[in-house]
Amino acid sequence: MARPSGPKTRCSGNWTEAKYRSFIKNQLRSASRKWGPIHEVKKEANISRGVYECAQCKQHIPPTLLALKGGRRKRVNNIFVDHVNPIVPISGFTTWDEIIDRMFSEKDNLQLLCGPCHDIKTAEETKQRVKSKVDVRNHPREYNSWKAMRARCQHTNHEAYERYGGAGITVDPVWSESFWDFLSDMGPRPDGTTLDREDNTKGYYKENCRWSTPEVQANNRKDNRRVIYEEEDLTISQWSKKLGIPTSTLLNRLNREWTIGQALGFVEKVNGKRALTDAQVVHAQALRSSGTKLDDIAEFMGVSRSVIVKRTKPNKNKEEENG
Ligand SMILES: [Zn+2]
Repeated sequence: MARPSGPKTRCSGNWTEAKYRSFIKNQLRSASRKWGPIHEVKKEANISRGVYECAQCKQHIPPTLLALKGGRRKRVNNIFVDHVNPIVPISGFTTWDEIIDRMFSEKDNLQLLCGPCHDIKTAEETKQRVKSKVDVRNHPREYNSWKAMRARCQHTNHEAYERYGGAGITVDPVWSESFWDFLSDMGPRPDGTTLDREDNTKGYYKENCRWSTPEVQANNRKDNRRVIYEEEDLTISQWSKKLGIPTSTLLNRLNREWTIGQALGFVEKVNGKRALTDAQVVHAQALRSSGTKLDDIAEFMGVSRSVIVKRTKPNKNKEEENG
């Protein structure tokens, strides 16, 4: 089965992520040949001159064998220092830290095997890896969501990267490493739903994610719609938090074609005439106290002079009331 090659984002745009990872792994593998514990294990298995003991079958074996290769007799390696826990875990999901820890492990994770035992162990691991992939295939919808989520946020060449990863939307590191953790947190994906974030300004993690229908997502995107009022540029949810008005109320008002000022409650419309909000009254009051003419305040606030008179009082009066 052909594997999708993926975008070439590594090595000056010449290599895919997969090729990059395998290159690093090979470099680490060759560096591990100089790793002390590997030599110690080999030395300990060397029971006499030219004779090694296989940790699995306990047979005494020579370090090389003559084998027929391409019609020719060739000397091939017969002893393998093997990692008891494979370098790349069976599940396939891992981090570089884990790979390095396993690659350069201490003696207790190392053993010397003869060629046939090594082949058997490798074949068994391959079988388990295939089985693990099949397990993934038992959750194709969830797996697709998981893969797409990571791609949007982590593959710089992804068409939506700018709106996700590039905009600071991240994936929970545990999720990023393990599809199984993602699956166990999210549960099975119901029919007709996709992965959705409750707060679109935040990343992908358990508390912010849900499986939801396109309708819910569309509403959620409306929450994210930007509304500009007097040079303040906020999303509907941000206005909602700031003003203490539910997002659904704000959305309903805007859908009923209220002006932005009305929808946000900055401008009231009473009997077809504009009135003042509390904030505007405070502002008008301050202007009046500073000696601004009533007509000028009325013009500035876009209301009639009588509204200003009714809603504001000169400071003098206030002092008299207090006194
Ligand atoms: Zn053996």
